[in-house]
Amino acid sequence: MTRAGSVSAALRSALRPKTPRCYRHCQEPVRAHSVSTPFPGYWSVYACPGGVVSVTSYVERSRKDPTLKVRRFLSRRSVPPSLVTRHDLRTATRHGPELGVMAERILARDRPTRPLKVVYWRVYPFQGRDGSEQRLFVCFRHGRARPVFYADSGAARRGTCPVCAAETLSKPRRQR
Ligand SMILES: [Zn+2]
Ligand SMILES: [Zn+2]
Repeated sequence: MTRAGSVSAALRSALRPKTPRCYRHCQEPVRAHSVSTPFPGYWSVYACPGGVVSVTSYVERSRKDPTLKVRRFLSRRSVPPSLVTRHDLRTATRHGPELGVMAERILARDRPTRPLKVVYWRVYPFQGRDGSEQRLFVCFRHGRARPVFYADSGAARRGTCPVCAAETLSKPRRQR
């Protein structure tokens, strides 16, 4: 038995967005990282090896709109939480044909009673206060359930995670 709203592995791979290379940062291949959430659906972060996020997507079978809970989840994991804006979240109800042959086949076989809802979070490079171009980064060093999203210029290719940086700073104090 599967949990209500959950999405099969075959369908998840059929839903994978086509973003093979990192945009305007390093041209490296973008990989999918799954993130554990308290929600029934499937959450992926697509990022390059340096941590620049192309897009995150949350997929759930639901009649209800999952946008708000996804936004809250992302805000709790972003430094600062204001990185997550309504403007950058896009929710789509997906049907078979537009998802490609593979997904269409799976959906035709499964005959889902709930529509497939996908919430995309995509932050395009933006100008920071100091005038530098900022990108959305993710750090996975805090566990699969605790990705940290932050903005960075990416000048050093790999960004500087504010949570990792704070832990490094607090270490000498702990040892005392
Ligand atoms: Zn990159
Ligand atoms: Zn970190």
